Amino acid sequence: MQKTIGRLPLPDGTALRKIDWVAVLTISSYHLVALLACLPWFFSWASVWVMVVGVFVFGYLGINLCYHRLLTHKGLVCPKWLEHTFAVLAVCCAQDTPARWVGIHRWHHVKSDESEDPHTPLAGPFWGHMGWIFIQNEQVDRYAIYTRFAKDILRDPFYKKLETTARYPMIIVGSWLLFFLAGVVIELLLGGSLGQAIQFGASLLIWGVFVRTVVVWHVTWSVNSLAHLYGYRNYNTPDDSRNNWFVALVTLGEGWHNNHHADARSARHGHRWFEIDLTFSVIQLLERVGLASEVVRPSKRLMDDKKIDTSD
Ligand SMILES: [Zn+2]
Ligand SMILES: [Zn+2]
Repeated sequence: MQKTIGRLPLPDGTALRKIDWVAVLTISSYHLVALLACLPWFFSWASVWVMVVGVFVFGYLGINLCYHRLLTHKGLVCPKWLEHTFAVLAVCCAQDTPARWVGIHRWHHVKSDESEDPHTPLAGPFWGHMGWIFIQNEQVDRYAIYTRFAKDILRDPFYKKLETTARYPMIIVGSWLLFFLAGVVIELLLGGSLGQAIQFGASLLIWGVFVRTVVVWHVTWSVNSLAHLYGYRNYNTPDDSRNNWFVALVTLGEGWHNNHHADARSARHGHRWFEIDLTFSVIQLLERVGLASEVVRPSKRLMDDKKIDTSD
């Protein structure tokens, strides 16, 4: 019998009783540790600013630009050293390895808002947002998804090593240590005591890593949930994707999700003049300074049909 908690049944290959405990423990631990930010001992304005800048650096450059527009959809090409740097930033967001993230997202595009879509919110808003991560799904098992949707990613030895060695968790844990030690060293250099140095290191760790990671998670997940439920549509795509102002604002452009489903390869998600897409502005900047090439613009045919001005 098919399992239903929303308008659509959950994907075949899932069972609500088959819980992915690693995902549950990881995500709940991050949320609990992030809550320490509510304690005054961990507070400092410097750490809050590091968190805000970190959302841009790790979330927008790592997840939006690299995992999504570059690796998944090949909307641009960057020099390998820069691509790998952006990929490391994305790894620090703890949203899975490049190959699995790309594989799941490509599968989402193939089956958008059908019952096999791994995270359609039509199977339940909470399911679409984060519930799908907590339940094992045979269709997006690592090896199933690699062979179907991520062979090209695994041809790159750098990404392959992230799958086959302990590098993925080591980078994440290494980033925790880096933030803590940076805080300790900075405070000591400023003449603080050892106690003050440990306090500032802990503050940077909680705000700069855990709060930032939780914020970036919910920002990314809101694309999967809110931008398939609420908003307007420029294009009559076969899925329920929407252009959602709120999501576009908090994701710096990923919320123009109906545009994206209509023309997935385009590195530019905002198609109309008022659809501000700061992630694409960063890509244009990289292109101007010679660090991005083969940048894919929205399809002219699509634009002509809608009479949308495509000039950047
Ligand atoms: Zn989507
Ligand atoms: Zn996509």
